[in-house]
Amino acid sequence: MIIIHSEEELNSIRVSCRILSEVLAELVKFISPGISTIELDTEAEKMIRERGGEPAFKGYLGFPASLCASVNEEIVHGIPGPRVLEEGDIISLDIGVKHDGYFSDTAVTLGVGRISSGLQRLLRVTREALFEGIGKVREGNRLSDISHAVQSRAEKDGYSIVRDFVGHGIGSSLHEEPQIPNFGEPGRGPRLKPGMVLAIEPMVNVGTYNVRIKKDGWTAVTSDGQPSAHFEHTVAVTDGDPEILTSW
Ligand code: MG
Repeated sequence: MIIIHSEEELNSIRVSCRILSEVLAELVKFISPGISTIELDTEAEKMIRERGGEPAFKGYLGFPASLCASVNEEIVHGIPGPRVLEEGDIISLDIGVKHDGYFSDTAVTLGVGRISSGLQRLLRVTREALFEGIGKVREGNRLSDISHAVQSRAEKDGYSIVRDFVGHGIGSSLHEEPQIPNFGEPGRGPRLKPGMVLAIEPMVNVGTYNVRIKKDGWTAVTSDGQPSAHFEHTVAVTDGDPEILTSW
């Protein structure tokens, strides 16, 4: 069942999202050649706890860290570790906060130092795909209007959209109904209503959309080894414009 959050609940979700936005805005400053992904995770957890939140991902279904750090051909769910970022890499930082029982979720993909023009374009198009989807977050639209807008933007530039992972409702839990695929025909699924809160998160690949899970049981990589990007915002449906709760 899709939860329609009350104004009081929305205020609590807004606080959780504000903590998360602040943390991500600080965390991106650490991205440079020479830093390891476990150092990023340590910083992220510290900054979340300093603000009175808890890392929402840590322990979720057994995930061992506060941050999903996915580099280059890694799509999502990369486990932070000793890997050191190098000039020319791209890294997806996916992070969530629980505060006072309410959840927030966001992701961004960044270049490490100077990156190729091809990777710059991948990042730009993936971000634009997210915002095309957010543009459909309007009362009365159907859920798959979001999916279709995301897919169309990514495929217009010849990229592929990952099928195996989807966006989701969020608020009282990290993952609530509905699932939000990043592909599909428009005009399907439930109608959007004020009080729904959605985490929209396109994952866009240079090559095939097929994925493979690494031996760690978590890290999803492209099956052809080509790069992938991931952007995500938590967004509330209102009676007017979409409210992006994780802007920074
Ligand atoms: Mg998410």
